[in-house]
Amino acid sequence: MPPLFTITCRKCGHNVPSEPWAWRHQCGGMLDLKLAQVTAAVRATAVRPGKGMARFAPVLPLHSTPDAPIGDTPLVIDEIAGVSVGFKLEYLNPGGSFKDRGAYVTVSRCAELGFESIVVDSSGNAGVSLALMGRRLGIAVDVFLPRSTPEGKRRLLHILGATVHEIDGDRMQVQRETLAFVESGAAYAGHWWNPYFAHGVKTIAYEASAEMPQPDYVFAPVGAGTMLLGLYTGYSELLSAGQLRTIPKLVAVQASGYCPVASDLRSAHFTTTASHLADGIAIADPPRRQEIVDAVIATDGFGMLVTDDEIAAALQWLLSRGYLVEPTSAVPLAALLRCVREGQVCPGQLVLVPLTGTGMKVLPELAHLV
Ligand SMILES: [Zn+2]
Repeated sequence: MPPLFTITCRKCGHNVPSEPWAWRHQCGGMLDLKLAQVTAAVRATAVRPGKGMARFAPVLPLHSTPDAPIGDTPLVIDEIAGVSVGFKLEYLNPGGSFKDRGAYVTVSRCAELGFESIVVDSSGNAGVSLALMGRRLGIAVDVFLPRSTPEGKRRLLHILGATVHEIDGDRMQVQRETLAFVESGAAYAGHWWNPYFAHGVKTIAYEASAEMPQPDYVFAPVGAGTMLLGLYTGYSELLSAGQLRTIPKLVAVQASGYCPVASDLRSAHFTTTASHLADGIAIADPPRRQEIVDAVIATDGFGMLVTDDEIAAALQWLLSRGYLVEPTSAVPLAALLRCVREGQVCPGQLVLVPLTGTGMKVLPELAHLV
């Protein structure tokens, strides 16, 4: 029995049919997807055997859940100055990042709606995940990305059979050119807009809560906000099903030069020095900006801005512990280290830190840093 879900427009409040595929409302508003029977669905998930994403079938907006070796990532607890930090090793997913989870739901949904091709835009990781899942389900994937995307990610897209469009300009320009292409008749499944993506990412919260049931904080890197919004969706569902006492405080961490959310949360001011290390979250104005801010405020969390020096130091720490991640993945730890130093996070508290993307796609860039 597939879960019942509703899609509504955040701007005008209208309900949107679940078929055909819609990635934004005709008024231009973002779409929100919510399960109708959350408590029953969450409980069904808790007792369902199986592995990977298919285990979460009761809470996924899909009619069928194809097999794919995505999810079930380890959670490793390290002590940092008395704080228990649960690192969720999302970079160990097959496509090398947490975005495999969102791609799983997005591409599966496109497949069940009969699409043979999709168009996405990406700074690299989402493109790889969507191309990998597209390849698995026999769907052709066009990926638009900035020309500055690390070579390793571009090569991987070619290996996975994606059609790659390299765009001059920043990530916002890539989005504009992608949408112009989509208006020529293709199906757009970019993860900034499509409401299915977060329901894949939310499974991180489900998995983590089995091993770290009640963290005090979750530190998440924020570019388009897909990690933070996915976690918020997952924890909100667990809370409304009575599986959680309270949602952990969500800390939105951004890199210097790309801090609209941290600015809205009054935790950062405009900076002129743009981060060179955090290419995965170098997004000046994410479409779900207000939604991210609302989620952080709803959990009594806060925003933070970190510099490239702090990111580099956190990355060195992670590499020294054997976590082979990309620089963007060190962004939340950079913020946590400062909070621990300044006493904002105290000994005895529990913190979840997803390690988002592998360093294996950016070896030349990593080699410059060590
Ligand atoms: Zn609308």
